[in-house]
Amino acid sequence: MKVPFLDLVAHHASIREQVDAAIAEVIDSGAFAGGPFVARFEDEFAAYCGRGAAIGVGSGTEALWLTLLALGVGPGDEVVTVPSTFLATVEAISFCGARPVFVDIEERTYTLDPDQLERAISPRTKVIIPVHLFGQMADMDPILQIAARHDLRVVEDACQAHGARYHGKRAGTLGIAGCFSFYPGKNLGAFGEAGAVVTNDAALEAKIKELRDHGQVRKYFHSSIGWNARMDGIQGAVLSIKLARLDAANAMRRAHAELYDELLSGLDSILTPVAMPFNEHIYHAYAIRVPDRDRILRELADRGISCAIHYPIPVHLQEAYRALGLNAGAFPVSEQCANEFLSLPMFPELTEEQIGCVANELKACAGKMNACAV
Ligand SMILES: *Cc1c(COP(=O)(O)O)cnc(C)c1O
Repeated sequence: MKVPFLDLVAHHASIREQVDAAIAEVIDSGAFAGGPFVARFEDEFAAYCGRGAAIGVGSGTEALWLTLLALGVGPGDEVVTVPSTFLATVEAISFCGARPVFVDIEERTYTLDPDQLERAISPRTKVIIPVHLFGQMADMDPILQIAARHDLRVVEDACQAHGARYHGKRAGTLGIAGCFSFYPGKNLGAFGEAGAVVTNDAALEAKIKELRDHGQVRKYFHSSIGWNARMDGIQGAVLSIKLARLDAANAMRRAHAELYDELLSGLDSILTPVAMPFNEHIYHAYAIRVPDRDRILRELADRGISCAIHYPIPVHLQEAYRALGLNAGAFPVSEQCANEFLSLPMFPELTEEQIGCVANELKACAGKMNACAV
């Protein structure tokens, strides 16, 4: 049996007619860049998250970048984040001219380790960016306490955590801003590139709106140097339809994760994900840890099971960040995880039969493995 890593065709089958009609409406109205379809989605997404405003932008990367710019992050500043993330989190820091400073992740949740946070803070630190990796929120209470003690802003990278909760509160609502990606493969995915920032801070909202539109305060009156980072009308229209189904889709992912947990339990060589009891994990990825990961990935591919690695090289060891002068051993948990992470197929339309097949094939490979270090 073939099991794809992700099946967007299956994901969109049930909404195809509705989406076709919505796109036709955008075409007929001519509202392609920003406009009423984006504004409607912004209102809906802000309400979904429980924030005062959502600002639609062109991608999750732009959401992070413009938020940092709007907070005044620039050359000479430091921004603290984790090395176990998609590069975009750190690129956004670099594109402000600021310096990224890393904190390792927790051994079992794979999110920023609050116990190591304070050490990374210096007089130059302006912002902390916890990353809600794989759909589970970072341990925000201690992070927010430390941030408050040092008068720092917290910006959540919620690009993998649409609808996740921490002590009942939605991702993106605990920091001054939450940044989301609507890249097609995310839990809430557009039909192209898109992103958004959610915030309750009216000044921050106004500044990000200005920056995403060439620094314009009204047409052709530019009060600052901004960028073109608007969301497309078609993406706004599609996202409105998909947002209405997000909770149901996340519930299906959670059920799939439960089944994977059950089928893979009791195997010494496989570490399954841990969801903290105060977290509602929405499983953007179901990432296990296995020794000899690259061989397992290949063997599963040979058996028709497509997996992925998020991410094979932690950011501090990427060639792009060689100038930071950080070597192997600097962030041991992130480094070990990068060698062991294996993301199994995960999307709402996955069937029980497919999950059973993935688990069986994985077990067939597991016999040949040594136990994980943890
Ligand atoms: C996807 C992602 C981003 C970037 O979002 P884009 O929409 O692709 O620009 C940033 N951070 C994390 C953790 C992501 O997963």
